[in-house]
Amino acid sequence: MSGFAPEHDDRQRVRDASDIVAVVGEHLALKPKGREYVGLCPFHEDRNPSMCVIPAKQIFHCFVCGTGGDVFTFIQKYHSMGFRESLEYLAERGNIELTKFNPNGEPNNSGAGVPFEHTGIGKKEIMTANQAGQSFFQTILTHPEHGNLARTIIEKRGISDDMVERFAIGASPDRWDGLLKAAQAKGLNLDALIGAGLIKAKDNGGHYDALRNRLIFPICDQIGRVIAFGGRIMDEDDSPKYLNSPETPVFRKSTTLYGINHAQRAIKKERTAVIVEGYTDVIACHQAGVEHVVGTLGTALTKGHATVLRRLCDTVVLLFDGDDAGIKAADRAIEVLLSETIDIRIAALAGFTDAKDPDELLKRDGGAAIFTQVIAESVDLIKWRFDRLREELKGAGPARITQRIEEELAKLSDLGLGELTPVRRSLMIRQVARAAQIEEGVVIAAIRTGRSRQRPSFTHQADIEQVDGEQESYVEHDWAPNARETLLGCLLYDTNLWMLMSSEERELTSTTLYGSPLSRIVADALHSSAENGTGTGLHAVLDELAALGDETGKNLVEAEQRATMLRQFVARDSEAISSRVTRVFNECIGAVTMMDARNVKHQDTNDESADEAAKLKAFIESQRMNRKKFGRSGKNMLSGE
Ligand SMILES: [Zn+2]
Repeated sequence: MSGFAPEHDDRQRVRDASDIVAVVGEHLALKPKGREYVGLCPFHEDRNPSMCVIPAKQIFHCFVCGTGGDVFTFIQKYHSMGFRESLEYLAERGNIELTKFNPNGEPNNSGAGVPFEHTGIGKKEIMTANQAGQSFFQTILTHPEHGNLARTIIEKRGISDDMVERFAIGASPDRWDGLLKAAQAKGLNLDALIGAGLIKAKDNGGHYDALRNRLIFPICDQIGRVIAFGGRIMDEDDSPKYLNSPETPVFRKSTTLYGINHAQRAIKKERTAVIVEGYTDVIACHQAGVEHVVGTLGTALTKGHATVLRRLCDTVVLLFDGDDAGIKAADRAIEVLLSETIDIRIAALAGFTDAKDPDELLKRDGGAAIFTQVIAESVDLIKWRFDRLREELKGAGPARITQRIEEELAKLSDLGLGELTPVRRSLMIRQVARAAQIEEGVVIAAIRTGRSRQRPSFTHQADIEQVDGEQESYVEHDWAPNARETLLGCLLYDTNLWMLMSSEERELTSTTLYGSPLSRIVADALHSSAENGTGTGLHAVLDELAALGDETGKNLVEAEQRATMLRQFVARDSEAISSRVTRVFNECIGAVTMMDARNVKHQDTNDESADEAAKLKAFIESQRMNRKKFGRSGKNMLSGE
């Protein structure tokens, strides 16, 4: 398909019209830095802006995962598109008409005219089916008879014509074969419509429409392509009230936000995303001019949503109609808060208005002002939880209060409070302490890092950066973990790995084998912690180090730092993807075994070399077993592909 001369010309024209800063900036927040721009890399779990966009060269590059290229590369990678698709996308964006290139001479400027390929149902076919579905539903909405009820409902709900058009609202007819008949008449690919979940197959061989007699809300990706549909009943006796497309290769509920294509610009501008519950709430907000609003599709906020949003903004406000709905969603939100670098706030309409949802509120006079106030007075998620806890504990005695606060802290700890990066952890601890109205030290103790109060906390960035020239310190600038130390890092990262090691492999981490005294102390604590049955995870090892410090009266803060840093090193290197940790782990075992075998050969007698060779063989065997246990260990996973 590609390789025609006109396409090269097209490519150049489209490239000229697609400034890379503008295009990348439409997908993530960019900040100017000298002559370049930086932002959070969308291609790995970036915590500090690692992606650099260089206008002079019209390229982008990530310093951590190495992803880079021109504007086409960015669009292809970001949206999992092929080259042609990225060309079409950027051409449409830049209002450029592409040269006719397909054999039957149809213009091909939007992708709408792409003929079906009858070779299996992939993303492209499903996208095309969705597009066909959308135009069918929109046609029905304007149909004198079949669209009548839908138009009445839209009018009654006060949805403006502008919004009907912007959100491409449609309707499905009250019959089993509306879309089916239309598809057959037009010769559309039935398998693709089935793949998209729009048509269903009957057991006896026939087919029927999946969405009947419903108001249809197309669900789009960030660039406005229809990836799924939501259908709301029109007859209140029907059920379920809402029906979404099933998950398909182009639609994943847990990462999709309704309205994101229209909201992203405002979200970036406000540095905040507001999340509401229903389609009509999102539309009502946009209609009222509050555009940094999106909806989840009947689920609580997920890590996937947060990953999309944190590239655009710093804060997510979860807006609930009443307090009760908020309580249910808050646990999930806490998990998200502790796994993604984004602030989460809670806002509830109750207390500000008797309107039951944003839709109702915004249709009233002065509703937009109240809505803005509700968002402005949203409460930080951690504070919100402790506020609720205090409410619940009104009139309770001190023992009961202490117990409940401890329970809450334990819960936060279980959800991962202790496993954050040092800076974020320190911020969160401060936040929790303030919300719970207790000392930070109590929080630190509760998350079982085992540090006692008289010792300085290393959770503050200042402490980590403080270089002490006399003593060995983690921050000596030329220290970098070797393979054996990285192996420790893997065990600190994933306590299950220890369970999968043979005793020979465990020997590889033996305390006497490290050049650095700090690493020896960490290894020692790790071994005792493993023997005690508390595992090799960072928490357990820090506990062990604290106990050791108390016993010996030594200050082991630096060893604690080393343990934390070793774990962090592995987390960063693997981008916290567990299959990659496993790969790093396997590689380290291999490297350390080889290193030890070589050393033994040089130093010792033949007997021992033979022993070592046997050990190596045993290791290789166990390595094979490990690979079986772990599944794929991958060939080139660290390259980001
Ligand atoms: Zn990256």
